[in-house]
Amino acid sequence: MKEHVVGIDIGGTKLATVVADKTGHILGKVRKPTHSEKGPEYAIGLLFDMVREVVSQVGLEQTSISAIGVSCGGPLDTKTGIVYSPPNLPGWDALPLKALLESEFQVPVIIENDANASALAEFRFGGGRGYSAVLYMTMSTGIGGGIVIDGQVYHGANDSAGEVGHQILLPNGPRCGCGKRGCLEALCSGPAIARRAQAALQKEQKGGKSPTALLTLTDGRIEAIKSEHVLAAARTGDALALELVQETAYYMGWGIANLVNILNPDIVLLGTIAVAAGDLLLDPIRETVSNFAMTRPAEAVHIAPAELGDALGDLAAVALVV
Ligand SMILES: [Zn+2]
Repeated sequence: MKEHVVGIDIGGTKLATVVADKTGHILGKVRKPTHSEKGPEYAIGLLFDMVREVVSQVGLEQTSISAIGVSCGGPLDTKTGIVYSPPNLPGWDALPLKALLESEFQVPVIIENDANASALAEFRFGGGRGYSAVLYMTMSTGIGGGIVIDGQVYHGANDSAGEVGHQILLPNGPRCGCGKRGCLEALCSGPAIARRAQAALQKEQKGGKSPTALLTLTDGRIEAIKSEHVLAAARTGDALALELVQETAYYMGWGIANLVNILNPDIVLLGTIAVAAGDLLLDPIRETVSNFAMTRPAEAVHIAPAELGDALGDLAAVALVV
């Protein structure tokens, strides 16, 4: 009986393979560094070994695996299963990932970009359970997103839907990784929060103000400030850090209000930084959304932290095939 599935999580720094049962319960896991500098041939060979290793680790035969789900950085084509040069995987140019895995293991393979797969995992196993229109947004080194409607990922015309971080809020704002200016991601990703904090501290220093609690967290080194320092200082009541959190919530709330008007989601689940910050960030985001979004969709939407935490990568791959 084919009662088990394999999930593969492909990141720029690590690869993971898991075996799960048909309810998404994870039975075993193998994790290894990607060594992305060695190129795709090395990583694919390693992945083949890691799939065999995790299956034998849980005492199963290869023949008891019914499908393989793959969560990978995009861009990629979910129909052909070809991966097109993800920024964190150099050399993965037009790589037929689905075909390679299918010919090696002789089972159906579903590949999905990591943000969409994460949205599906939150819908199946996390904070999106029981809702029909779920929007998931990451908030870490970038701001990605996935839209799940009636249990299906919304892909758009060519698998490019859900780029929630590249809505432009300030056309003359800071430069974004995508080449445009003033995207939500250029204002509210972890590195973007850190940049705003560093700029504000430099301004304070020039104005001769005494150092704030924020600066004592990095022994006075402005360039070492990260988003987690801003959150930590805000929790102690540091005025500058609280102002930065408010500003982050304002931009996030503005971006989410746009999406709420367009998609009318039941729930918006926010990952990583929002999970770490909790209501310190979520409450002012909720307030901004209710100010900016139209009344009916604003009344319907819940804004909550994502629930799957460290398990998200594994469950994202598994959610594709259970
Ligand atoms: Zn952008």
